[in-house]
Amino acid sequence: MSGIDGKVVAITGASSGIGEATALLLAGRGARLVLGARRSERLAELVARIEEAGGTAVHIRTDVTRREDLHALVALAGERFGRLDVLVSNAGAGTISPLDDLRVQEWDQMVDVNIKGVLHGIGAALPVFRAQGAGHFITTASTAAFRVVPAMAVYAGTKVAVRAICEGLRQEAGKEVRVTTVSPGAVATDFADASSNTRVRAQTAQMRDRIAISPEAIARAIAFAVEQPADVDVNEIVVRPAAQN
Ligand code: NDP
Repeated sequence: MSGIDGKVVAITGASSGIGEATALLLAGRGARLVLGARRSERLAELVARIEEAGGTAVHIRTDVTRREDLHALVALAGERFGRLDVLVSNAGAGTISPLDDLRVQEWDQMVDVNIKGVLHGIGAALPVFRAQGAGHFITTASTAAFRVVPAMAVYAGTKVAVRAICEGLRQEAGKEVRVTTVSPGAVATDFADASSNTRVRAQTAQMRDRIAISPEAIARAIAFAVEQPADVDVNEIVVRPAAQN
């Protein structure tokens, strides 16, 4: 199957930002969506918007730190649509701060959401993709996986890990399963508000307001990977604001 129309796509972190923009773009192009995040009221609103526009979507409360929640997300795709073509592992925590702050619970959160959340998605979807003889993992990493800057040590570490895991997955995947890693630069989402360090939060918000690109730019990159023919695997996409170093 190539193109987007009719594909069943599950998206984590679909309640805002890049995940929401991706859901709207893919739904508009005929994908059938299974949306996951913790804020289920926002997911319900998004499903209603998609359905009003003639699209198809369902949602389920999903905390990616809980392995069973990813199994439930993948199972819902099977129950409602009979298959899963694409898993977009997009949920992310950006509680960035200097290491000296010792915000160790936030370090844990970034590891749990950004790394283990992706692993839980792989664990849930890979057997389904193997059984189908087809499937596509798309994972949101970050330009922080390529360039570490102060206050981003732990966050960058998680995104480096995500790229490594996805590259390993790609090498093991064989010809039936595709693996795409999308690494955004500064994107205008709520992400900049996540830091609990007021100075870092102000700096991140300032950069966002100065140079950030819209989440639709990342959604378009994801759609490009999805729509390729089954024998074409777009492995890495880096999308930065033209103004970003
Ligand atoms: P948002 O804050 O708008 O979105 C983050 C999403 O992740 C939300 O939908 C949130 O949903 C979800 N999420 C967070 N924790 C969990 C969890 N435990 N379980 C399930 N979902 C969770 O920011 P973005 O759209 O910008 O972030 C999306 C991805 O893009 C992340 O992986 C981020 O690291 C990455 N990224 C963002 C950049 C940017 O500049 N914006 C730059 C580079 C990468 P909810 O709270 O409802 O659970």
